[in-house]
Amino acid sequence: MNNETSAKQRAAKSRPLLGNKFKNWLMNTPGVVETAVLGTVASRAAAQAATLQQTHAAPGQAAAAAQQKLASLRGAAAVWSDAELENYLSCAVVLLEEALGMTLFDTQLLAAANMLRGTVVEMDTGEGKTLVGAVVAGAHAARGRRVHVLTVNDYLAQRDAHWMHPFYELLGVSAEAVTSATDAADRRSAYLADIVYVSVNELGFDVLRDRGCTEPEEAVLQPFDACVVDEIDSVLVDEATVPLVLAGRARSELQSVDVASFVKELRPAADYTVDANKRNVSLTDAGLARVEARWPDVELYSAAGTPLFSSINVALHAQVLLQRDVDYIVRDGKAEIVSDSRGRVAHLQRWPDGLQAAVETKEGLHHTEQGEVLDQLLVRDLVKSFGSVTGMSGTAVAVADYLRTHYELDAGRIPPHKQCIRQDRAEQVHSTGAQRDAAVIAAAITAHATGQPVLIGTHDVAASERFTALLADAGIDCQVLNARNDSVEADIIAQAGRRGAVTVSTQMAGRGTDILLGGSPANAEAHGDVAALGGLLVIIVGRYYSPRLDAQLRGRAGRQGDPGASIIYSSMEDPAANGQEAHGLELSDSVDQDTDDAGLVTRAGVSRLLDRAQRLAEQERFTTQQNSWKYNELIAYQRKVVLAERDRVLHDRAAALEILDSTDSTDIAGSGRLEELRSILGGVELARACRAVLLFELDALWSDHLALLSEQRAAIHLRALGRQNPLDEFRRETIRAFEGFLDDAHAAALETVEALEIADGRVDLAAAGIRRGSTTWTYVVDENPFGNQSDAIVKWLLKKLGK
Ligand code: ADP
Ligand code: MG
Repeated sequence: MNNETSAKQRAAKSRPLLGNKFKNWLMNTPGVVETAVLGTVASRAAAQAATLQQTHAAPGQAAAAAQQKLASLRGAAAVWSDAELENYLSCAVVLLEEALGMTLFDTQLLAAANMLRGTVVEMDTGEGKTLVGAVVAGAHAARGRRVHVLTVNDYLAQRDAHWMHPFYELLGVSAEAVTSATDAADRRSAYLADIVYVSVNELGFDVLRDRGCTEPEEAVLQPFDACVVDEIDSVLVDEATVPLVLAGRARSELQSVDVASFVKELRPAADYTVDANKRNVSLTDAGLARVEARWPDVELYSAAGTPLFSSINVALHAQVLLQRDVDYIVRDGKAEIVSDSRGRVAHLQRWPDGLQAAVETKEGLHHTEQGEVLDQLLVRDLVKSFGSVTGMSGTAVAVADYLRTHYELDAGRIPPHKQCIRQDRAEQVHSTGAQRDAAVIAAAITAHATGQPVLIGTHDVAASERFTALLADAGIDCQVLNARNDSVEADIIAQAGRRGAVTVSTQMAGRGTDILLGGSPANAEAHGDVAALGGLLVIIVGRYYSPRLDAQLRGRAGRQGDPGASIIYSSMEDPAANGQEAHGLELSDSVDQDTDDAGLVTRAGVSRLLDRAQRLAEQERFTTQQNSWKYNELIAYQRKVVLAERDRVLHDRAAALEILDSTDSTDIAGSGRLEELRSILGGVELARACRAVLLFELDALWSDHLALLSEQRAAIHLRALGRQNPLDEFRRETIRAFEGFLDDAHAAALETVEALEIADGRVDLAAAGIRRGSTTWTYVVDENPFGNQSDAIVKWLLKKLGK
C-alpha cells in the first residue's frame, strides 16, 4: 500500500484507537473499509484544508494556494504515499468549496481515500457519491492518467460532467461527456479529455465501432487506463453479462414471419406449456405433431432441423413469455425493450434479429432492418479492459464476495455522515396480487391525506399504469415515471419529495437523481414542513429479484439523516414467491389458512421464507451469468487474436501486402497474379488494396464465426443427450471452428486481391464486393433472451424419444 511512510511514522500519525486497530486487522473481511490509516488521512486532510483556508482568507487565495500545492504532486510516484494522498485531498476540499460551494464531509474523504487505494465503496443514496467520484477521477487526472467515469445512462453522464466541471477547471484537468447524441467528431475530441463521463453502453458501442474502422484516424477512443464506475453493482453484477452488439450488413431474411404466424395459432396447455417460474416454454407432443404437420419436409431431429427448431422457439418465446408493457413497449410503431434491471426503455436497443422480428410479427408491426452481428462485447469484458477499476454504489457490500471473485475488487461500507433514521417497516404479504394492490392503495391514501409524499415502486410499466388508474379512482393525482417518458423522469423524480406528491415509478427509473424533501431546488421551510410529516414514504410493490434493488428503492427515503419510511407489500403471486416451489418451500398452498379477511398473511416467518426465495432467485441469476461467461471466454480470447492481427494491418500500411505475399497461393487459380498486379499498380497502390481487402475478410470471417458459434451453442445441447458436457463440447467446437482462422482470412483475401479488376491504374474494390454497409447499429441483448432455450429443446427431444 504505502512504501514511503514507515510503520512507526504511521503509528505516530494515527490516533491510537483500539477500535480502529481492530478494524484494520479486520481489513480482509469483505464489507469493511480501511479506517485506521485512511481515516486519519481523511481527517488530517480536512484539517489541512481548514488551515489553508484560514491562512489564505481573501477570496480565491486558498484555491490559488491549493493549486500551487497540487503542482508539487505532479511528479509523485505511481502510488501516492499517505502524505501525498492527504495533500491531494486537502486541495480537493479547498477547490470543491471554491468551485461548488460544498465542503466535503469526512465520510466523503474517507470514501475517496479508499477508492484511490482500490476499494469499492458503498455509500447510501444522497451521501454525495458524485463528488466522491469526481475527487477520485481528479486525483488520477492530476497525475496525468486518463479516467473514464462510467454511468448507467446518458443523462447522468451529461449531468455529472457538467456539475463537476468547475471543480475540474480549478484542478487544471479537462472533463467531457459523451452520450449517444454526440457525433463522431465531437466524440473523438471528447475522448481526448483527461476525464470522460460516458454511459457503459455508449463506451462499449464505441469500442465495437472502433474495432471495425478501416483507417486509424476513424477511431474515436483513446487507450483505457483508470475507470470509476458509478452504481458499480448495477454495472459489474446486474448488467455484466449483457452483450453489447454491433450489427450491420443485411443478409438473407429469416423465416421468422412464417414461424411466428404458426406459433400464434398454437393453443396454450394443449400445444405448449410454460414452467412455473415463467421462464421456459416448451412444446407438448401435440405441439410437436403440429410442427411436423406444418413442415413435413424438414427432418426436425437432424442438424438441418436446428434452425427451424430455434426459430420456433424464439417465436414461441416472443409470443408467450414476452409481455407487452412489461418486457417491451410499443411506441411510434416500434417495439422497444424495457431493461430488466432498470425499468426504462433501453434506448436504441433491440433484441437479436429473430426475436425482434417475432415480437414485431406478434404486434403486427413493420419489420425493422435485419442484419448480422458484426461483433459483440460483454459489459464485464469492457470493464476488465481498464488498468484500474474502482467505483461506488448504494449497494455494494451485498455483492462483496462476487466483486472479489469476478473482479478482484474489495468493497466496504462508508457510514452515512448523518445517521439514517428511516423506518423500514415490516413487510406485508398478501395472498393475491389484487389484495396486495388494494393494501398499497389504502396505505398511499392514508399517507397522502396527511400531506406526506409517497413514492410507489413497481416492477413494470403495466403495473405502474394499473396503480395510476387505481389512484385516480381514489381521487389522487400522481406522477408516473416509467419507460414511456424517460426523457423527463429526472425532473419528475426530483419533485417526488414535495408535500402531497404521489409518484409511481418503475424499478430504478430516475436512479441517480436526488429526492429532496420539499422539492427541488432545496427550500428549508418546505423541507421542514415535509420532514414534520415523516418525510418520504417509499412503498415497494413486490420484491425485486435481488434484495439490492429493494434496498436501492428504500434508500430514496431518509437521505442525509432526513426522516422517512419504507415498506414492502408482497403477494404469494409475486414472481419472487413463485420460484419457491422449485426450492421446496411449498409456501403458497400452506399459507391459505393463515390469512385475515383482507388476504393478509399472518403466518409468522413468511417474510423470512420470501427472503430465502429471493436469495435463491438471485443465486440462480448468478449461475446463469457464470454460465454465459464460460461460453464467452474462449470467444473473447479468439477475438484478441483476430484484433491483434487487425491492428497490425491497420497501423502498418505494408503489413497486409507482406502477409499476402507470404501466403501460400498454390491452390489459387490465378497464382502469380500478385506480381503482375505489383508491376501494373505499383507497390503503394497494391498495398492499399491488400490492406482494405484483408481487413474486410478478417471482419467478415469473424462475423461468420460468431454466427456459427451462436448456432452451435443452440445445437450443442442436443448432444447433451449423448451425455457429453455441453460446455466442454462447445469449447471443443469453438476451438475447432477457429482452427486456421487467420490462414483462411489470408487465403480469402489473396483470392480476392488476385481477382481484382483494374480501372485507370486503381483497383475497383467495390466491384470485388469489398463494400462495407454504410449503416451499422448497436443494441443490447436482454440477458439470456431465450430463457433456457436449449434446455427446452432437450426436454422436447427427451419427450419425443420417450425417455
Ligand atoms: P448519491 O449519488 O450518493 O446518491 P449525489 O452525489 O447525487 O448522491 O448527491 C446528493 C446530494 O447531496 C446532492 O444534492 C449534492 O449536492 C449534495 N451533496 C453531496 N455532497 C455534499 C456536501 N459535501 N455538502 C453539501 N451537499 C452535498
Ligand atoms: Mg448517484
